[in-house]
Amino acid sequence: MMIKENLSTVETKIAAACARAGRDRADVTLIAVSKTKPVEMLREAYDTGTRDFGENKVQEMCDKIPQLPGDIRWHMIGHLQRNKVKYIIDKAALIHSVDTYRLAEEINIQAKKHGIVVPILVEVNIAGEASKFGTSAEDAILLVEEIAALENVRIQGLMTIAPYVVNAEENRLYFRKIKQLSVDITNKNIDNVSMQILSMGMTGDYEVAIEEGATMVRVGTGIFGERNYKKGNE
Ligand SMILES: *Cc1c(COP(=O)(O)O)cnc(C)c1O
Repeated sequence: MMIKENLSTVETKIAAACARAGRDRADVTLIAVSKTKPVEMLREAYDTGTRDFGENKVQEMCDKIPQLPGDIRWHMIGHLQRNKVKYIIDKAALIHSVDTYRLAEEINIQAKKHGIVVPILVEVNIAGEASKFGTSAEDAILLVEEIAALENVRIQGLMTIAPYVVNAEENRLYFRKIKQLSVDITNKNIDNVSMQILSMGMTGDYEVAIEEGATMVRVGTGIFGERNYKKGNE
């Protein structure tokens, strides 16, 4: 397994992107996206110091959590169905993929039951791709204002999945656009809303994302290698 070496390469690139942008390395969190990968591989990343892991399926996340140390921060980064919120409500450190009021409402209900306040990000489909989840950039502010009224949900920022491109530079304008959107929302001074997190950038484009203000990058392939997509393992 090459995980230690891969992590070191990614770390070097993150540090270089931070330096180019005049940013502090401590302001960017690397999330190791471990979906479809066996716990042995996660453990190797853990032993190298990784504490933030990203999963996109509720069942898979719930299976992995008891097999690994308790100080891991688990990030739910995939599309979340309302009927599955109850399984991860007290397990996810951050839910990145909230794109409807109805989903936020369900998170609020389940959070109340547990007596907790759950941090979330609002997912924005910044390029307007038909194939992707996320609210449109146009509707994002309204959605943030609506969700802000829910007592047990706390908006911490925005998340986006940029288009798949061969040349990462092509996504720079989208990263700029969502950064600007987060600044616009900050300037509205909405109660209970913080825009301190900007979750954007994956294996193909995380360096550009950092240059444009990402505070969380989600890297899977670059750490764990290519995923084997079996049937039902999307
Ligand atoms: C799979 C996934 C990633 C990681 O993608 P890589 O290209 O393998 O780095 C990041 N974010 C989300 C939401 C994902 O589903």
